[in-house]
Amino acid sequence: MSANIYIVEDEEPIITLIKYNLDKEGYKVSYSDNGNDGIKEIKKKLPDLILLDWMLPDISGVEICKNLKKDNRFKDIPIIMLTAKGEEEDKVKGLNSGADDYITKPFSFPELLARVKALLRRSKPSVISDTVEFDDLKIDRMTRRVYRKDTEVHLGPKEYELLNFFIKNPKRVYSREQLLENVWSENINVETRTIDVHIRRLRQNINLKGSKELIRTVRSAGYSLD
Ligand code: CA
Repeated sequence: MSANIYIVEDEEPIITLIKYNLDKEGYKVSYSDNGNDGIKEIKKKLPDLILLDWMLPDISGVEICKNLKKDNRFKDIPIIMLTAKGEEEDKVKGLNSGADDYITKPFSFPELLARVKALLRRSKPSVISDTVEFDDLKIDRMTRRVYRKDTEVHLGPKEYELLNFFIKNPKRVYSREQLLENVWSENINVETRTIDVHIRRLRQNINLKGSKELIRTVRSAGYSLD
């Protein structure tokens, strides 16, 4: 699942920057460069979060925010105000308008992303949790914990990275060289048989009694999560 984010902002470079980076993070992003279209679209699309510029050519961001927050259908959508002004008074006004957070331009993308995630974690934990599953195996990337049939299994750092790599493309067979390059990128002098050692450990760790084998050895080709 990924969150839908709506941007109302009239400065094109800012839209481009935010959209490009949020796309890369896996969010679905749409936008409008004016307030009237923005309100209409937001009411139609019901995004999971709104990034709202303070100064727009038609209606102010504060007005849009108030408009949405007084309506039960939209009041729970978190809003982050983007403001070029830094004055304390304006920030307070922004929060009085019901905005959930504000960020002052210019901002760095990581800063914005952190705010977005923090709000989504509260309002929609399901879209922000960073867990991946394959069969009865589950990785929680946020806490780096691994579960098999809901039982936590403990992996060494390399075994964790191997599994995390496999789970991105289940069923795909990777040669030892590919694993070396992707999981041992910092130390390419590792011998390929080292990989066999770590695969064996990974298997020992995730194969609980009575559970099926998930790491497949493909003769003369490599390994896959299958
Ligand atoms: Ca503006």
